[in-house]
Amino acid sequence: MGVVEEGLRRLQVGPYACPLCGLPQDRVPTLDQDWILLEPGLEVPAHLVPAEHRWITLSDGRVAVYGVCPPDGSQRCRIEHRLACSNQPLPDLWPWLTALRAENARAAQRRTDPEPPRGPQELPDAG
Ligand SMILES: [Zn+2]
Repeated sequence: MGVVEEGLRRLQVGPYACPLCGLPQDRVPTLDQDWILLEPGLEVPAHLVPAEHRWITLSDGRVAVYGVCPPDGSQRCRIEHRLACSNQPLPDLWPWLTALRAENARAAQRRTDPEPPRGPQELPDAG
């Protein structure tokens, strides 16, 4: 592929195959003069998505993070394909929930750990 073709490919807007799963993603310009790969054909209620992962489409076709908390009840948003991609690890979407799970894992481990060994059961010979 030539440099010009590569440049045109990089500017492509619209369907763009995920290199990890082969499914199409929408390559969309952001307000920050960058690009993001969004899950095509999916808009979910914003309250179901962590604020930093919500993308809304602006009137000019670019997208921006919708970080309003709490979100408008009727607002819908798009998500990055990497969140839905079966071949990529899911990022830590809810850090407080991850911390709770880790604490519960420690609590469960403490419950199943054997009792620490006790000292000799005999009383010392006091004479
Ligand atoms: Zn993928």
